[in-house]
Amino acid sequence: MGYDCVVIGAGVGGLFSALNLAQNGKKVLVIEKQLVPGGCATVFKRKGFVFESSLHCVDSLGKNGEMRKYLEETGISQKIDFIDLKNFARVIYPEHDFVLDFSAPNFKEYLIKSFPLEKENIQKFFLRIEKFYNQFDNFCYWPIPEFLKMLISPIFFSEIIKISSLTMMDLLKQYTRDEKLIAILSDLWRFIGLPVSMSSAFYFLLVFRGYCFAPTSYIRGGFGRLFDVMVHEMKDKGVEFQFNTSVVKVITQKGRIKSVVTDKGEEIEARSVISNASAWDTLTKFLDDDSFKQKYVQELKDMENSISAFQVYLGLSVPAKNLGMNQDIFSINTTYDHDNNFQYCLTGDYEKCPLELVDHAQIDPGLVPEGKGSLLVMTLDSYTNWEDLTEAEYLAKKEEVARILINRVEKYFPGLNKSIEVKEVATPLTVKRFTQAPKGAIYGFSPLVKQSGENRLSQKTRVKGLYLAGAWTWPGPGVHGCFISGLQAGDLVLDFLKVK
Ligand SMILES: Cc1cc2nc3c(=O)[nH]c(=O)nc-3n(C[C@H](O)[C@H](O)[C@H](O)COP(=O)(O)OP(=O)(O)OC[C@H]3O[C@@H](n4cnc5c(N)ncnc54)[C@H](O)[C@@H]3O)c2cc1C
Repeated sequence: MGYDCVVIGAGVGGLFSALNLAQNGKKVLVIEKQLVPGGCATVFKRKGFVFESSLHCVDSLGKNGEMRKYLEETGISQKIDFIDLKNFARVIYPEHDFVLDFSAPNFKEYLIKSFPLEKENIQKFFLRIEKFYNQFDNFCYWPIPEFLKMLISPIFFSEIIKISSLTMMDLLKQYTRDEKLIAILSDLWRFIGLPVSMSSAFYFLLVFRGYCFAPTSYIRGGFGRLFDVMVHEMKDKGVEFQFNTSVVKVITQKGRIKSVVTDKGEEIEARSVISNASAWDTLTKFLDDDSFKQKYVQELKDMENSISAFQVYLGLSVPAKNLGMNQDIFSINTTYDHDNNFQYCLTGDYEKCPLELVDHAQIDPGLVPEGKGSLLVMTLDSYTNWEDLTEAEYLAKKEEVARILINRVEKYFPGLNKSIEVKEVATPLTVKRFTQAPKGAIYGFSPLVKQSGENRLSQKTRVKGLYLAGAWTWPGPGVHGCFISGLQAGDLVLDFLKVK
């Protein structure tokens, strides 16, 4: 009778929760609005060029990485070809230009060389964050009951507690007042969409470790290949998939999950539901029970969504390397002040906003026709810069903003304009259309202190049998975060099904 679990959405969180349940022999149905899996992490093809819709680099996929180990355990990695990455990114500031290579010691050395007067402060900062990482690992992997961990936290996990209450800027200012050093140490703010003056030190540091402490890998054929293989493997294990189908309602009975209703009018019974859709849709729209909905409307009303993104996908007649793109990721900043950088993104100042360039074909030449190249040009952007436009205004603005960004990149890579064979543009409205995320939020709830760590929206809900997975919930955005979220949602459902 019915499914053990219906998973709403085949984004990263949804797919890993479904895989966890499938590994444990549960009867699962995944319902996905789009035609393909992956959510905002999917790939698309134009005239022989394969483009990553969003991903630049995913941490924890290198040897011994957490995701890599799980993919090995589940046999998925055997059907995937990993390409080890040498470097993370070339980072450009008005007076600094360096390569981050996944190695904290090398990064530290570069910083000490560039800021000799700050040597001691830099060393102390790295010691402090290493202490935090050690405690974090102990907290996650100590095989003792959760309540006991909480009880002993003030003694054994004091760093986690302290850092959880700080913004990343609070933490950095405990070590240095040098604005350029602060800017470089917080360069990864773009990966969480919030400058360090506002972002949680806790979440920032987890992302920082992801990209600065261990090498990672790309997946040949694009990250979409991973999701295709996962779907294939799960189908072999009996998981059912309905693509091109939306869940429009979650039906409860006496406070428990009963079923979901799709846009095709089908009611599907389930003992539990994991929603990978946005927390807003799940808790304030899909739920049939008004009393639950009203409570969540109240609870979520002060929560803040993350920023969105504007992206230009270029298929080139030559490899981008030939034009001067000598690393697969470039990060370009016109100023050291990330609060200003954030404002440029929020207000749509496309002449000044920071740019992220990614040349996936440099990593995997098979993504483009032989001898050709590709380039992804991305900036963070706000939905408000794009809503309320007429169709004609929207199309004209899309072209204009793409032109501005390409011309900025042309200064670094002369000949770029002449080499463009294919051009696709995605705005915050496109992100919303493909993920349903309100206002095209790319990182779920913004990683503010009040919305991170212990304060992140729980995966458990007030409805028995309903759980959340993905960027909106614990631990937070990014593929690695959503992978953890998916596995944990699966574990929560396994526990729930045991006691039911
Ligand atoms: C431009 C950009 C760049 C990024 N770069 C990186 C990067 O370099 N590295 C990194 O780690 N992360 C990056 N991220 C973040 C990362 O992609 C996301 O955090 C992660 O993929 C989100 O996964 P999710 O599980 O929250 O699901 P989502 O991707 O949000 O997918 C949710 C899925 O649910 C489906 N859905 C929604 N509502 C319904 C419904 N009612 N019925 C059925 N299906 C529904 C949607 O169609 C979608 O497929 C980037 C994101 C963006 C947008």
